[in-house]
Amino acid sequence: MIEWREEKTAIGIAPLARLAESLAAPDALRLASLAGRGFAVVVAPAARETVAGHLAMEPDERGGLLCGSLYADERGAVAAVAVRAAVPAVDFSSSGVSLRMETGVWDRAREALAPGEIVVGWYHSHPGLGAFFSGTDRRTQAAFFRHAFSLGWVIDPLRREEAWFAGEASAPLPAERVVHLAP
Ligand SMILES: [Zn+2]
Repeated sequence: MIEWREEKTAIGIAPLARLAESLAAPDALRLASLAGRGFAVVVAPAARETVAGHLAMEPDERGGLLCGSLYADERGAVAAVAVRAAVPAVDFSSSGVSLRMETGVWDRAREALAPGEIVVGWYHSHPGLGAFFSGTDRRTQAAFFRHAFSLGWVIDPLRREEAWFAGEASAPLPAERVVHLAP
C-alpha cells in the first residue's frame, strides 16, 4: 500500500555552533537553553509557510516531506534538526486516518536538497481530528523514518494544533524542544 522509497545517502552532520551563528539572538538563546535535553527541532519560516499553505483549511489529509540538516554538539550527539524546506506531495490519497504519498515526492525532495541536507522527516494533516499519530502514522514512521532524528510533524489546520514525533518508535517531542524561527 505504501510505496515510498527510502533514500540511502551519507548523512552529514555539522557543528551546532554553525546553526547557532545563523540564528537571531533570541532563537540562539532558546536553542542553547535546550542543550543536553535531547535534540531540538528548528523550523525555518519558509518550511512552515509551505506546510501551512499546503494544508490550510483543506478538509482532506495532505502531506509531504521535510528537508533539512543535522547539527551535533561537542560530543558528537545530534543536538538539533533544522527543517529548512517542505516538499508537498501532489498526488496524495488518504481515507480516515490512513494516508499514502506518491513516490515522486521523494524525487522532488532529493532535487530540493541543498548540499549536506537530507530528508529529515515528513508532515501531514489531520483536519479536524487533532494532532496525534495514528497506528498507520506510527507504522509509516517506523518503516520510512526510523533514524533517531527522523521527524514526524502532524498538524490539524482546523483546530490549529500541531505535534511532533521522532524516531522509529514515534516518541513524542515536547513542544518546548520545537523552535519556530521568526520570519
Ligand atoms: Zn495521520
